[in-house]
Order: sequence, then C-alpha cells, then structure tokens
Amino acid sequence: MRVQSVAMVLGRTIHLHGASRERFLSDVAWMRHEACHIKQYQRFGFFGFLWRYFAEYLRRGYYNNILEVAARAAEQDPAILDNIEII
Ligand SMILES: [Zn+2]
Repeated sequence: MRVQSVAMVLGRTIHLHGASRERFLSDVAWMRHEACHIKQYQRFGFFGFLWRYFAEYLRRGYYNNILEVAARAAEQDPAILDNIEII
C-alpha cells in the first residue's frame, strides 16, 4: 500500500505527512508549490489565507481552488523560491 504524501502549510511552516524532509527537498516542483502557499500566507495574513482557502474550497473544491491553481502554476516558476530560506 502506498502512503500518500501530503504537505500542509501553516504560516511559514511546511508540515509533511508520509514524506521525509529529504524526499520533499529533492522535489523542486513540490517545493515551489508549497513556497507559493507560504507567499499566499504572507500576502493575505494567517487567518486571511485560511479563510480564503476554506471559502474557495467550499466554492470550487480542492483542484479548482484559486490558491491551488496558483500554486500549481508556481511549480514551473524558479523565482518563487527567491527569498525562501529552508531551515
Ligand atoms: Zn497546494
């Protein structure tokens, strides 16, 4: 059975489930995706992001959520990792 790899961003922290830190750091597209969510938090604020995300989820579901659409687009954008420091 394959355990699904999930990342969830809360503020500036990426929480990984079913994936190691090494696996995450070896997947540039995945890192860009989650970095985009961190920038969305910075733009909207902690509760602003969560409110928007939930409202979009109710309206459009997961895949068409505008915050997910933007994060998927960011997977092709090397610049999204600028100003992101991984500690
Ligand atoms: Zn996402």
